Amino acid sequence: MKDPDCIFCKIAAGEIPAMKVCEDDAALAFMDIGPLAEGHVLLVPKTHAETLDGMSAEQAAAVLRHLPALVGAVKAATGCEGVNVLQNNGRVAHQVVPHVHFHIIPRNSGDEFHFNWPAGEYPPGRAERLAESIRDNLSG
Ligand code: AMP
Ligand code: ZN
Repeated sequence: MKDPDCIFCKIAAGEIPAMKVCEDDAALAFMDIGPLAEGHVLLVPKTHAETLDGMSAEQAAAVLRHLPALVGAVKAATGCEGVNVLQNNGRVAHQVVPHVHFHIIPRNSGDEFHFNWPAGEYPPGRAERLAESIRDNLSG
């Protein structure tokens, strides 16, 4: 399924160009046009879904199966020290293109890419209640 207004659907359909690195019936990986580091690759499903929770487990598995080889190939090609796999869902989470995509971002000591990682802590009982609610929603 394709969204006629979606840039990654158009790339998946071959309607606009991209520097492809691998492809099968379910997924496509291509070079990010605005790389956070040299070798930044995007992995996308060929079927349109805006966010990860809009995909079936089977669709997600068919896309994610490419990640180990892609991460290895990006590391080998760039000689980077590490890699972040990043997947943004929703504008608030910095999703700009509303078609699911996984960023594979090479990392090196002293590079320019930084996370603000404001680790917090729960008041007593809060984590347990949230875990229960998440479990209920998983089964529901
Ligand atoms: P996000 O903020 O997670 O939605 O990231 C969207 C990513 O898509 C950015 O890193 C962009 O540089 C990248 N991008 C947007 N348009 C294209 C395109 N036509 N070809 C390759 N990458 C693109
Ligand atoms: Zn799309």
